[in-house]
Amino acid sequence: MSNRNQIKSAKRVVIKVGTSTLTYENGNINLGRIEKLARVISDLMNSGKEVVLVTSGAIGVGSSKLKLKEKPQSIREKQAVAAIGQCELMHIYSKFFGEYSHTVGQVLLTRDVVEDDHIRENVVNTFETLLEMGIVPIVNENDTVSIDEIENIVKFGDNDNLSAIVASLISADLLIILSDIDGFYDKNPRENDDAKLLEEVLEITEELENAAGGAGTNFGTGGMITKLMAAKVSNKAGVNMVLANGECPEVLRDVLEGKEIGTLFIRDKK
Ligand code: ADP
Repeated sequence: MSNRNQIKSAKRVVIKVGTSTLTYENGNINLGRIEKLARVISDLMNSGKEVVLVTSGAIGVGSSKLKLKEKPQSIREKQAVAAIGQCELMHIYSKFFGEYSHTVGQVLLTRDVVEDDHIRENVVNTFETLLEMGIVPIVNENDTVSIDEIENIVKFGDNDNLSAIVASLISADLLIILSDIDGFYDKNPRENDDAKLLEEVLEITEELENAAGGAGTNFGTGGMITKLMAAKVSNKAGVNMVLANGECPEVLRDVLEGKEIGTLFIRDKK
């Protein structure tokens, strides 16, 4: 079976949407985009897929809700605004999914859930039960408990890492990360006109890490390094990953129909 055909038969799918997909450039929430996302995911569920949505955006939504002129600066303010934004964000998802007769459940996690067997088992049980019940688990980092995302948004890339952890934990067939770019290129396409989109990646080499803006401590350029890290984690756990553009959420349907869209990072077969 070709690799893209494999994607067609994916049943359990984790979808990650970042702040760039959920908000306008001015920081306000993009309701039209979220509504489309809810419609497409609802339809995928109607077709028999199990979907887990990993979402960012709590601070953005909280800032809009509070009509803040500027984004909060200190970590404690960010945590407080995230607490406000998180319930507003869930309210928005709940409303849009509800319009298509689907119910959502909120799952707030920290990345260390994988480190303790007992906690890990509890988390997996919750996901399995929600999915059995036909619910869409909506996952975000628990910003009250953990400041990893808030503090290291550049380093950890806005939940990219968390989505890979979730996909591995629940043995998903596919992780789809939606970004503001069509996929992974051999060099940064915003700086190089001749950059080429890679349709399939079999192995994450040093060369690719360099194309993403450098490995190691150089996390300064773009969010691509964290996408590669997510691909590494999920591929190692036997999960395929596709990086695609979230501008039109309908792209999810195309990816799951096996169309050559975005970049497919192929799972480790070992
Ligand atoms: P998001 O907020 O959607 O998670 P980021 O904005 O952090 O994503 O990262 C996407 C950006 O990374 C792209 O818009 C692009 O400017 C930059 N980038 C750097 N290197 C590459 C590359 N090799 N391929 C694709 N995009 C790259």
